Amino acid sequence: MTRDPLAGPSAPRRVAVVGGGIIGLSIAAELSRRGADVTVYDPAPGGTDGAWHVAAGMLAPGGESAFEYPHLTRLLEVGYELWPEFVAALGDVGYDRTGTLSPALTADDVAEAAREWKHQKLKPLTGSQVRDLEPAISPRVRAGAYAAAEHQADPRKIVAALRAALADRLVAEHVSDLSRVDADVIVVAAGCGTAALTGLPIRPVKGQVLRLRGEPGLLRHVIDGTADGRHVYLVPRADGEIVVGATQEERADRMPTAGGVHDLLRAALDLVPGLAEHELTEVTVGHRPGTPDNAPILGFLDDDRRVVVAAGHFRNGVLLAPITARLIADLVLTGSADPILDAFAPGRFR
Ligand SMILES: Cc1cc2nc3c(=O)[nH]c(=O)nc-3n(C[C@H](O)[C@H](O)[C@H](O)COP(=O)(O)OP(=O)(O)OC[C@H]3O[C@@H](n4cnc5c(N)ncnc54)[C@H](O)[C@@H]3O)c2cc1C
Repeated sequence: MTRDPLAGPSAPRRVAVVGGGIIGLSIAAELSRRGADVTVYDPAPGGTDGAWHVAAGMLAPGGESAFEYPHLTRLLEVGYELWPEFVAALGDVGYDRTGTLSPALTADDVAEAAREWKHQKLKPLTGSQVRDLEPAISPRVRAGAYAAAEHQADPRKIVAALRAALADRLVAEHVSDLSRVDADVIVVAAGCGTAALTGLPIRPVKGQVLRLRGEPGLLRHVIDGTADGRHVYLVPRADGEIVVGATQEERADRMPTAGGVHDLLRAALDLVPGLAEHELTEVTVGHRPGTPDNAPILGFLDDDRRVVVAAGHFRNGVLLAPITARLIADLVLTGSADPILDAFAPGRFR
């Protein structure tokens, strides 16, 4: 394909996106919407590989960033604001703004959670106030807090909608050598697979997640609580599914463990005893793409500006998908980086 000589390097036409997970597909959809000729490479573009398939889809700009890289807090806040517009283009992807309730079971759990509530400027609630908001919460719960601004969406529905929109752009191929990819610009958005392609320090952080199913309506809010020192979240979907997560382990294996499943179920049932009657439908293991500072890597890989990296989103890749798509599309199409990207450049690990 010939390039318009007046367009220059700042207007690439053919963009290859390596990785068809939630980040790669969001970027490809944004580029395609803005007129680029996009191809997405993924070994199984209709499959379930990728952290998105396991992720709960909590959109928690405050909770998840509490004690992190300060620039990440800002990116999460800006990214969170893009969600209404992002989902408007996708249809029903389970976007729910009921908010998140954080019950704490014991006095020790309350003492521990109180630090987080203070950090997030949330008003503590008594146990009975928590149950007024969510009657299925155990009478043993001592206190809690309500975060109106912490929402959820279903990553499986998001990926399905993006795949449908990009159906003729998806190619079933595992990329092992970027120099063999024929495109003006290559966006590497391969999650944990990005390390092998770029040499960047992205490591898999294992998470075990359960899915339960029962009559819809047991829970209305996302529950993000603590029971006897065990942290658990419960994300209720409209169809009666409840996602229970998650362990966080510095491991790369795909094995669900008795201990992991036990801890999640025990904390879940301590907080919401009625879950005992639910069907256990899935036990899944995924890997968060973690970086040394837990913040994503976003920007040109090298000075030749042919390869752009968009990976390492760790625990926040669902929340950050819309902002990543927008910033990376700007970078690919204009050649210049928004200043917010400075703190996330690949060069910080070189
Ligand atoms: C247990 C768990 C719970 C989570 N909960 C949340 C949450 O509540 N909220 C939130 O915001 N985030 C959450 N996350 C994080 C989120 O899932 C990830 O940050 C996000 O999925 C990263 O997106 P990605 O597209 O970069 O990677 P992935 O979703 O992992 O997708 C990577 C894709 O790249 C493909 N690929 C890999 N290597 C190659 C290659 N060489 N060539 C071609 N394709 C390749 C893979 O097949 C895959 O399709 C959670 C993650 C886990 C594991």
